[in-house]
Amino acid sequence: MTDTTSPNRKPKAAITAIGDHQLKPSTLMMGAGYDPALSEGSLKPPIFLTSTFAFENAAAGKRHFEGITGKRPGGSEGLVYSRFNGPNQEILEARLSIWDGAEETLCFSSGMTAICVLMLALCSAGDVIVHSGPLYAASEGFVAKTLSRFGVTYIDFPAGADRAELDSVMARAKAQAESQGGKVALIYLESPANPTNALVDVEAVRDARDAALGADCPIAIDNTFLGPLWSRPLDHGADMVVYSLTKYVGGHSDLVAGSVSGAKKWITPIRMLRNTMGGIADPNTAWMLLRSLETVELRMDRAGQNAAKVCEFLAAHPKVEKLGYLGMIDDPRQQDIFDRHCTGAGSTFSVFIKGGEAECFRFLDALTIAKLAVSLGGTETLASHPASMTHLSVPDERKTALGITDNLVRISIGIEDPDDLIADFRQALEGV
Ligand SMILES: *Cc1c(COP(=O)(O)O)cnc(C)c1O
Repeated sequence: MTDTTSPNRKPKAAITAIGDHQLKPSTLMMGAGYDPALSEGSLKPPIFLTSTFAFENAAAGKRHFEGITGKRPGGSEGLVYSRFNGPNQEILEARLSIWDGAEETLCFSSGMTAICVLMLALCSAGDVIVHSGPLYAASEGFVAKTLSRFGVTYIDFPAGADRAELDSVMARAKAQAESQGGKVALIYLESPANPTNALVDVEAVRDARDAALGADCPIAIDNTFLGPLWSRPLDHGADMVVYSLTKYVGGHSDLVAGSVSGAKKWITPIRMLRNTMGGIADPNTAWMLLRSLETVELRMDRAGQNAAKVCEFLAAHPKVEKLGYLGMIDDPRQQDIFDRHCTGAGSTFSVFIKGGEAECFRFLDALTIAKLAVSLGGTETLASHPASMTHLSVPDERKTALGITDNLVRISIGIEDPDDLIADFRQALEGV
């Protein structure tokens, strides 16, 4: 027989260093986790459209099930059924792990599937989730409206909280968990918060967690806005990193997917629940994400440079009241968190136009390059009006607390020519 695709064989170990020179993630994106010899020499991985995988013999089948049922230590080997995993997803997971320096990664059919499965896997009735606020609205809703039906409660704290505030939040969470007969099961962060752009001090959260709860309570962080390029939260004390891969990683506004990365001990229960529920990214989406990962550094670099130029223009414009951009922080404590945690300011920011909804709508309707849409992190520039769109259902007092005013426009800068973008923003502001 010719050496055709055999998904149950492991690919050749990837080369990650030349002598003592470590290869960078951008290099590893072209080859890690895939061995062409296992796929007829195909330079790129084929898309594996199959629901199941053939065992080489009966004994191999038995070995597999001994592994997954725990009758044999070491866990399962190889692929068996596509609800659990497939070659495209495994290559994707290997490459995503590289960016965050994670031991393991799981990919999901959406960012929200990743977040929901993570929370369900780690929390039981009586437990408490401590989370930063605000979160992505669907994440906040899942905690407050869905998990609460299963006896999981939460305590939230403002994203910019300092160590003293964090210590008091941990103490309250511990007391709440004890009164419910549970534990503090998860600390869940999102940084920067949307649309406030407040950064979470992950190192301070880790220290407060260690002091109050010990390391048994994992810290997960949604790194969608700055990852994988501009922030590596596992280096600052987070145990798991969550992504909506729909955004910068996918990067072309043509797919929906998510992931969770971290140490094997945290990932294993999440993997078991994903195996049960499904929710893994499909092979075609995983393949598209492999293509996206080859250019993620180029795209994010360019988008970040474009955003810096556009923000410099906007900050000086008489019709702009102020900007919420991580490259122009005015609070020294936030600047300190930025300096310790971030290597770039990203390309998603808030611009406060002088006036209110009418002025913002005139501005948005006059834009010609930027498209009017929610989402972020794509090759094209997008603009939206949170108060009347994504955050329309947020109660007024909470909107005020979060700084979601009628004159706030959210912008995600793409990889177009920066001078063209500035020309577009200039003419749109003139019409305000
Ligand atoms: C988009 C987004 C999500 C949800 O991801 P989906 O892929 O749309 O399910 C979660 N968190 C943040 C910060 C996001 O921007």
